[in-house]
Amino acid sequence: MGSVQIVTTILAAGITAVAVWLAVRAVMKMTAVIRLGQPAPERFADKGARTKTMLVETAGHTRMLKWGVVGAAHWFVMVGFIVLSLLVLEAYFEVVTPTGGLPIIGHWTIFGLATEIITVLGLVGILVLMAIRLRNRPNRLGGRSRFTGSTMWQGYFVEWIVLLVLIFGLLIRGFKVATDHFEYPFWATPVSHAVGAVLPDWSDGASIAALIKIAISMTWLIVISLNVTMGVAWHRFLAFPNIFFKREPTKPAGSGLGALRPMTSQGKPLDFEEADPEKDQFGVAHVEQFTWKGLLDFSTCTECGRCQSQCPAWNTGKPLSPKLLVLSLRDHAYAKAPYLLAGGGKDLTGEEKATQAQLAHLDVLSLAEADKPLIGTAEEGGVIDPDVLWSCTTCGACVEQCPVDIEHVDHIVDMRRYQVLIESSFPSEAGVMLRNLENKGNPWGAPQNTREDWTKGLDFEVPRVGEVDDFEYLFWVGCAGAFEDRAKKTTRAVATLLNEAGVKFAILGEGETCSGDPARRIGNEFVFQMLAQQNVETLNEAFEGREKAKRKIVATCPHCFNTLGNEYGQLGGEFEVVHHTQLLAHLVSTGKLTPVQPVDGGVTYHDPCYLGRHNRIFAAPREVLGDAIEGEITEMPRNSERSFCCGAGGARMWMEEKIGKRINVDRVEEAMATGAKTVAVGCPFCSTMLNDGVNGKGAGEQVEVIDVASVLLRSVKPEQPRGDKESAPVAG
Ligand code: SF4
Ligand code: SF4
Repeated sequence: MGSVQIVTTILAAGITAVAVWLAVRAVMKMTAVIRLGQPAPERFADKGARTKTMLVETAGHTRMLKWGVVGAAHWFVMVGFIVLSLLVLEAYFEVVTPTGGLPIIGHWTIFGLATEIITVLGLVGILVLMAIRLRNRPNRLGGRSRFTGSTMWQGYFVEWIVLLVLIFGLLIRGFKVATDHFEYPFWATPVSHAVGAVLPDWSDGASIAALIKIAISMTWLIVISLNVTMGVAWHRFLAFPNIFFKREPTKPAGSGLGALRPMTSQGKPLDFEEADPEKDQFGVAHVEQFTWKGLLDFSTCTECGRCQSQCPAWNTGKPLSPKLLVLSLRDHAYAKAPYLLAGGGKDLTGEEKATQAQLAHLDVLSLAEADKPLIGTAEEGGVIDPDVLWSCTTCGACVEQCPVDIEHVDHIVDMRRYQVLIESSFPSEAGVMLRNLENKGNPWGAPQNTREDWTKGLDFEVPRVGEVDDFEYLFWVGCAGAFEDRAKKTTRAVATLLNEAGVKFAILGEGETCSGDPARRIGNEFVFQMLAQQNVETLNEAFEGREKAKRKIVATCPHCFNTLGNEYGQLGGEFEVVHHTQLLAHLVSTGKLTPVQPVDGGVTYHDPCYLGRHNRIFAAPREVLGDAIEGEITEMPRNSERSFCCGAGGARMWMEEKIGKRINVDRVEEAMATGAKTVAVGCPFCSTMLNDGVNGKGAGEQVEVIDVASVLLRSVKPEQPRGDKESAPVAG
């Protein structure tokens, strides 16, 4: 060992020892913070499925590759990080001796070839990512940048580190080539040979380059260890467990979509018959009341801003960005952690748990953080502003896009639950809807005995459950379908088509109440459970004696469809629920319905969030339209998984939209830009919102918003009077 190698070895060992010590300390700190969360025992079930999903999502980059070039570039950088860690390890042999290399595999040509390829692709990948970050930088694009609000220096820092590590890896190889100590043939490592051709024959070159490579790598480790909230770096490690512990490992994408998590206390679902607000946790009032998976979610956020770029609230000028929400919760959790780890915290009656002595050594910043209300305005020092919390439509675009499977909607609803159930704090206009649900069983407050009014004027009898028992499908009409004038036209169209196709169906009539979706999404789990239990009882009775496969329900409202199919199981109601577009597609494909006159004038289709993203039904409505219209559907730029919300979900239908541009107007502009004369929908709320948007633009005569079922009915029964026009003015 020469004198240069003695120095390089000592320096490499010194900086590595410091970095490893800091990294161990950082991992312990993060683990301690995440462990502050509430239990989530269900996350440990299905370990086989979890492992498989984690491997598929990480190795296959299934979420990231939806972003095309950036996904591919990230894949190369990720593979580069994992495989080229071996070359960082090899650098420790090279500081000791410039001809050193990894034992055994370091002499294999195949290893030389593989690392050469990955180095080159990693270099291309990181340059692409750097260019994308620069092109999308907030000071260039403002609020339209997905990086607005991200900690930009951290992204640049990580990217430069990757670039420099790759460059110095090539320099080490180049010096070995130049000094004739390189093991691998030219054909396997042409780039390394090319670099070597321009480097001097410097015997210590490889050791010096290896030391710099180690120093760069360890600087990275030191910086991220001193910044435990630096998700852009830590996600390289945390993404694996975060995906492993996702809510439903068998779901291919968007595990946090569809059903909401039940309300839990101490890791167990809350039973409202026995729940006590002084003993049980009702939603989330403090950051430590999220589960440990929630705290892991916040720690894993890479600040990539994909969620933000898709969020309808953010894109229409509201203060909610799912990314900024997650970052606020993360920063608050880590700032409050010293207080919590010292034994601090409030019990469920609001009393401080720690003694004065326990908190005596804490710094003032940590104590100040502990005093912040989780939900509160800037003047109140709140972590999350109420306008942020109530802007969410629960559309799920954030969950769908997040590459590390963060479950934003669950966290938002958990915070809403506390605000509604304990603080009674929510947009006042939604109070009418909640009162109507409690007193009348529907959000409009319509009398229950008018639930069957939509059947009037039909030229066939609509059978009720109880009057017939050989029905194949129970037709769940839903409150909108029963009481809202436009939606009633869809209900009639569906009933007419089912009748035409000879499908045996029956309705519950006055036995039906609201599915509970708006109550659940606004956070009123109590009212949800009340309505849901009543419906589960009614439905179980209607299907008595039938196995699950024969407990078939068809629903026209995607919110009812989602709640009945995905959430009633939490309360003992197991049914086979289909959306009417699925059943209609089946009836057309089996020849039971025959479209005879194609609907012309151009048609575009708006995917309802709770049908599309939340339940992944994209094809069926398009199949129905494809059979019923002339030509092809003219798709909007934002369609299918990336469809843009109409603005009504998450109980936003019953709240005023006072901030920014109206979401429905944004969507209607996109629909109208296609030039289509018909905007087809598959949801009564979308129908209302888009109709309002079209009428607000004074385009009611040129553009018609109608349900897919009504489009099909016009094609199947063209002689049918046009009473199905949903854009018609709505009666009182
Ligand atoms: S669910 Fe939709 S509205 Fe809510 S934060 Fe996510 S993207 Fe935004
Ligand atoms: S929440 Fe997910 S999508 Fe949003 S910034 Fe973080 S990692 Fe990216």
